[in-house]
Amino acid sequence: MTQLDAPACHCENEPWIHRAMLRTTATPGRFRCPETLHCLHGTTVENGRIADHWRSVPGECPWAGTKVTEYHRCACGRGPWIKLRHLRLFTRKNLTGPVISLVCPGLCPGPHIPVHDHHICDHARDNHTRCPWSGTRIAPVGIAPPLFVSDPLSG
Ligand SMILES: [Zn+2]
Ligand SMILES: [Zn+2]
Ligand SMILES: [Zn+2]
Repeated sequence: MTQLDAPACHCENEPWIHRAMLRTTATPGRFRCPETLHCLHGTTVENGRIADHWRSVPGECPWAGTKVTEYHRCACGRGPWIKLRHLRLFTRKNLTGPVISLVCPGLCPGPHIPVHDHHICDHARDNHTRCPWSGTRIAPVGIAPPLFVSDPLSG
């Protein structure tokens, strides 16, 4: 161990996104949850994570607790990544293969956005802006928590 060692980066330990990826709302400090269909009142970022928030249906929001950084690159220069567990609206190659398209978690309007080699393809948020979710890696891990189940343990 010498002083010349680069600081260890923990970017691979858990999924993370950066703040500009979240759509803002008219209320300062309040964001739209990527699962906006069920999280109608939006959410906040507390202590660097997406806070628990109200949902219109029973069942856990897969985004609650997700790490949110202030910078769009980590200390070692890599970009954000999420897990398959975060996503409900996507298509896979031959049903069980890699994700090939998804509804943009950045709530871009329009059809599914293509995904290539586990990364969200570059796409425009609007006429002027590249969507900040472009390039986000999707680790093929997990499935979204069930809807309409408030506590799976209580049966
Ligand atoms: Zn949510
Ligand atoms: Zn890193
Ligand atoms: Zn997008």
